[in-house]
Amino acid sequence: MTTMTAQPRLAALIGELPPWMSYGACRDEDPDLFFGADPGFGCYGERKAARVAREKAAKAVCAACPVRESCLEFAMTTPEHDGVWGGLTDKERRRMRRATLRKPTPST
Ligand code: SF4
Repeated sequence: MTTMTAQPRLAALIGELPPWMSYGACRDEDPDLFFGADPGFGCYGERKAARVAREKAAKAVCAACPVRESCLEFAMTTPEHDGVWGGLTDKERRRMRRATLRKPTPST
């Protein structure tokens, strides 16, 4: 996520990048690991088995990341919808968003 591919795109979307990004365990990883080989267009051309293996490897990097919680919170609250962030894939984050929206709000 803190890769060369993601940062310019994010900067264009949200402006200044948050400081925690420089501590991400992915900072020296290949961006393709988190976004697939076709950044900017998601991983639509990627075969399922390759995507599953790639996402598993990306999640392994996230599992040891010191800023994982900040990363996930960021991904859930910004227009960034592609790639693995905070240890979750884009599909998993969409599921989480939907579940959050369905949660009843406590009555006061
Ligand atoms: S949680 Fe994953 S995507 Fe986020 S900064 Fe850490 S290694 Fe990168």
